[in-house]
Amino acid sequence: MSTIIPLTDVRGARQASALDAFVREAARSANPDPALPVDTLGRQLQDLRISVTDRCNFRCVYCMPKDVYGRDFPFLAHSELLSFEEIARIAGVFVRQGVRKIRLTGGEPLLRRNVERLVEMLARLGDVDLTLTTNGALLARKARSLRDAGLRRVTVSLDALDDPTFRAMNDVDFPVQRVLEGIDAAQAAGLAPIKINAVIKRGMNEHAIVPLARHFHGSGHILRFIEFMDVGHTNGWQMEHVVSAAEIVATVSREFPLEPAEPNYSGEVAERWRYRDDGGEIGVIASVTQAFCRDCTRARLSTEGKLYTCLFANAGYDLRALLREDFSDDQIGNAIAAIWRRRADRYSEMRSAETPRSQKIEMSYIGG
Ligand code: SAM
Ligand code: SF4
Ligand code: SF4
Repeated sequence: MSTIIPLTDVRGARQASALDAFVREAARSANPDPALPVDTLGRQLQDLRISVTDRCNFRCVYCMPKDVYGRDFPFLAHSELLSFEEIARIAGVFVRQGVRKIRLTGGEPLLRRNVERLVEMLARLGDVDLTLTTNGALLARKARSLRDAGLRRVTVSLDALDDPTFRAMNDVDFPVQRVLEGIDAAQAAGLAPIKINAVIKRGMNEHAIVPLARHFHGSGHILRFIEFMDVGHTNGWQMEHVVSAAEIVATVSREFPLEPAEPNYSGEVAERWRYRDDGGEIGVIASVTQAFCRDCTRARLSTEGKLYTCLFANAGYDLRALLREDFSDDQIGNAIAAIWRRRADRYSEMRSAETPRSQKIEMSYIGG
């Protein structure tokens, strides 16, 4: 029996009407500012994460707990999703507003039928770094066709190497071997360097840290450990479940000494650490213990076309309405720019025990 969570809570529909009015007014603005948008904290719009489905074949305990996302969970109907044509069109508008990096995500993006066709359409946008985050379950089957469609790189989530822990984390009894085969297929297809994301939740998989490091040491793949985050409000997050990035670095370093490495670019989310023995590098994403809002240049487009300016937002701006009505690309661009210019989000920096958790949007819907 699933816990009943009102959809308004999962998708933040309650706050929508005021934002919708803002979006329309901004789209129709008579004198739009032609400069690329910069938000109230001086951050540019550079990255776009597009959720292509709110469905998933896993039920990771930290993301889509089974007792909430049960058989009767009301996922979005197909007509509510943005079509590939709509996604490609809006992605083009975002690119004209400064976006240089697009990541397809979800839910599980490889569950969206013919996602390769979308990749092909987005690859035509030109000078954009196009990538995708997947749980890897379908990657062995799809790596080659994704690469042929124009995907350049892939990030694979993998929280443990030992089968019992991996099966307990995904909570659908999915074997780790199939994900490892997906990673091999991605490498063979040329989707490299591959990033491997591991969320560490205390009491579940902190013992997986060193084996993961050992496995990917010297492989050319970049392992990134992610602190368990308080996204949404269904995953039962508590601070004591967070294993800090500092603890993770110390744990790996005891086995394979590490030294800090310079960021690849300003605003890089993962803090880089290099193995002293030339075995490559790892990253840690310290979203809880060392917030990086100051450099956050990411926007998120939900499966049904709402724009969120923060992973922890409690409402989004409905761009699908503009796409499905008679608004031009320039007008939609005006709306996106105006939304970005009023952005003041810095949730992780402000996070405190008092932060209300009841209205945040779920990660599987907004796109991780
Ligand atoms: N299904 C795909 C996957 O798992 O790679 C893409 C979507 S998933 C929401 C994107 C990323 O978010 C994954 O790497 C996942 O581990 C991470 N994630 C989900 N819930 C999280 C949480 N509560 N804290 C930290 N990371 C989380
Ligand atoms: Fe699915 Fe990814 Fe969430 Fe796991 S983290 S439940 S694979 S969307
Ligand atoms: Fe960006 Fe929001 Fe995360 Fe801060 S909390 S880094 S603003 S998504």
